[in-house]
Amino acid sequence: MEISFLGATRQVTGSMHLLTLNSGYKILIDCGLSYERGDAIELNDNFSFEPSSINLLVLTHAHIDHSGNIPTLIKRGYHGQVLCTEPTAALAENLLRDSVNVQLAESKSKSKNHRNGKNKPIVLYGQQQVEATLDRLVTLPFKKTFKINDEASITFYPAGHILGAASVLVEINESGITKRIGFTGDLGKLNSKIIVDSEPMPDLDFLVCESTYGSRLHTITVPAEEELFKYIKKNCIDSPGKLVIPAFSVGRTQAILFTLNQLYVIGKLNGIKVFTDSPLGILSTKVHEKYEGYLNEESKEFARNHGDLFDFPNLLVIQTESDQKQMAYHSGPSIIVSSAGMVEGGRIQEHVRNNIQNPLCTILIAGYCAEGTFGHRLLQGQSTIKIKNKDRPVYARVASTDVFSAHPDRDGLYKYISASQTGKLKKLFLVHGEEKNIEDFKNFLTKSGVNNVTIPYKGDRFLL
Ligand SMILES: [Zn+2]
Repeated sequence: MEISFLGATRQVTGSMHLLTLNSGYKILIDCGLSYERGDAIELNDNFSFEPSSINLLVLTHAHIDHSGNIPTLIKRGYHGQVLCTEPTAALAENLLRDSVNVQLAESKSKSKNHRNGKNKPIVLYGQQQVEATLDRLVTLPFKKTFKINDEASITFYPAGHILGAASVLVEINESGITKRIGFTGDLGKLNSKIIVDSEPMPDLDFLVCESTYGSRLHTITVPAEEELFKYIKKNCIDSPGKLVIPAFSVGRTQAILFTLNQLYVIGKLNGIKVFTDSPLGILSTKVHEKYEGYLNEESKEFARNHGDLFDFPNLLVIQTESDQKQMAYHSGPSIIVSSAGMVEGGRIQEHVRNNIQNPLCTILIAGYCAEGTFGHRLLQGQSTIKIKNKDRPVYARVASTDVFSAHPDRDGLYKYISASQTGKLKKLFLVHGEEKNIEDFKNFLTKSGVNNVTIPYKGDRFLL
């Protein structure tokens, strides 16, 4: 059989890997949107293979850089099913529908600046292709092997990361020999808020492993409640200020709301109002509530003792105009949790704009901010920042924490890989990491005694 690396090679977006069996049967693992530099439409609208030739698509998790190009694949002729876990199907429904709106908004703002060529598509796909994608989703539980045919079977293992995220074990039997190939998908860090720990796949011959934080160590080791309370105390108890937290709608928003709920229960949020302002976050919270059984033990125990995980009396979920007014006129100490995480798009932009000149406010960046994003610019510590073409002085404090990180750091990845190293691992492929990080990680692994590490380039193919 052969493996082809078609995305997330030496960068972190557009995850897509193809297994081609000797019989010609083709299994695609993930089909994510790529955000590499260049024209996003051109980059994602064409595939280096014939979509109708793919027999099966397996989706590791709902994030758009793993799922966001499936509607294009279907538009281009893919006829098969999409295997994923139940929570992934539910989250993908919200994220893919939202992806169309994001593309439309981007296309509008671009066409303001320059006209598109007449024959160029403005968006990659519409709601129709999204609905067609949702019709193809077939869900499987964790750790139940699904036999695809006489030569192939797959098993999902918990990957941590976000609700429903799976690592995929593909077992291939060719000429009487069985080979086991593991795809980690995106992994989560151990003991994270609400999400279960990842479980390494056993007895692998080959492993395709993510390397997002392969050259970095998480700095915050205290529990999330303690870390978050540090900022609450400074901004909302010691002074009547505001804490504004940009948060991704899926996973991060729920982890923060749960942490705030834990603080509420032990009486540490007295007199502090919490607002959460994210339409996609509301939908995503509902999915987390529906699939509570997939969350970790800490969350389940809290739910048994206190009921709601993501709702508490101090919280106002912004849904109506009157909620918005209530938030706008609130004068006491408050916390605002809003998306998007990198302060690019979404309601958070408004909250940052309204508070950037407020010396009693801290903007707490709780996640990764890619270079070029507004969140990244904020973290540079500039004394003025351009918002809506106007330079504004930054009087608010800007801070960051990695306590809610959704990926393991270098040591976490090493631990995971070591657990997969049962002596028979023939090759380890590193994907889903920026060029320098992934090279550093390879060097670290080699020094630590992990051999046969390969960092593929886009389009590289290997016989397994
Ligand atoms: Zn992800």
